[in-house]
Amino acid sequence: MTRAAERALLAVPRLRLGTMPTPLQPAPNLSRAAGVEIWLKRDDLTGLALGGNKVRAVEYLLAEATASGADCLVTGAGPQSNWAAIAALAARRCGLDVFLVFYGQPMRPTGNLLLDHLAGADVRFTGDLDRASVDRGIDALTAELAAAGRRPCAAPRGGATGLGSLGYVNATLELRGQLEGADLNPATLWLATGSCGTQAGLVAGARWLLPGYAVVGVTVSRPVDECVKRISGLVTEAAVRLGLSADSVGTDADIIVHDGFAGPGYGKPSPGGEAAARVVARSEGVLLDPVFGAKAMAALLDAARAGRAAGPVVFLVSGGAPTLFAGATAL
Ligand SMILES: *Cc1c(COP(=O)(O)O)cnc(C)c1O
Repeated sequence: MTRAAERALLAVPRLRLGTMPTPLQPAPNLSRAAGVEIWLKRDDLTGLALGGNKVRAVEYLLAEATASGADCLVTGAGPQSNWAAIAALAARRCGLDVFLVFYGQPMRPTGNLLLDHLAGADVRFTGDLDRASVDRGIDALTAELAAAGRRPCAAPRGGATGLGSLGYVNATLELRGQLEGADLNPATLWLATGSCGTQAGLVAGARWLLPGYAVVGVTVSRPVDECVKRISGLVTEAAVRLGLSADSVGTDADIIVHDGFAGPGYGKPSPGGEAAARVVARSEGVLLDPVFGAKAMAALLDAARAGRAAGPVVFLVSGGAPTLFAGATAL
């Protein structure tokens, strides 16, 4: 199984847009503060467009888009989306025009929205705070562009598709070597979960490539049952992409998602998250973003304090630095 999945994964076209492998580094000061051994997987250092987890997804999505002859990318999210900025800059590097659909109203270009403008993206707002308005907007704009003779490639919010998830199946290959090298097997990996593509890739990788490895997601937006359903679906989609048989997909017993750390809501900083981000900045000099990483770290520190986080723990630093500079406009 491991060999077959690995061979199938390595055969899927991927553009090398990021700087991988990213470091897995010890966090001795943070470990002391938390009372559990913590290592940091530095996916804030994936390079492209200030780095972050979305770089791994975009490498697969744009490989397919460019191979299919697309001449523009249509995607979207919220105006401070890390995904949108990374996708826009990556698409530019591949010679594609970029159209971004955001929920809400036009706002001052700070943080990621500034990067979208720098990328020369055609930015549109739905005028509706409902996040699903973005999905309808992407569909409508894609149809409009196609009718006008363009060859658009549409990607959903977060790049969360079976194909995009392969980025983190691939990351488990990277981790496998790093964990063996540091004698950290078995370990538990903690991460923030939003659109679920990252956790889906890690769960699939843990099932198919890295036995004994546990993955714990902390939701920052969706209810737990919705996350589990999305992750399960994305793992199945990823299996189809790799040509794996249905019975090799596995059961969902290993899809673990914690909630209770979203604070006042998606995109809004939480006091617990801000406190956790301060601990990490002051102990390790590493920056966590307020929307994802800070809240996941708050959950990990809470579990460690309660004796519910067995070490060694690997914490995925997933990027999002631009939102640190978007101030109170994080949404
Ligand atoms: C998108 C994102 C996440 C969550 O990843 P999903 O694949 O959407 O679940 C975590 N951290 C950062 C910084 C992100 O931009």
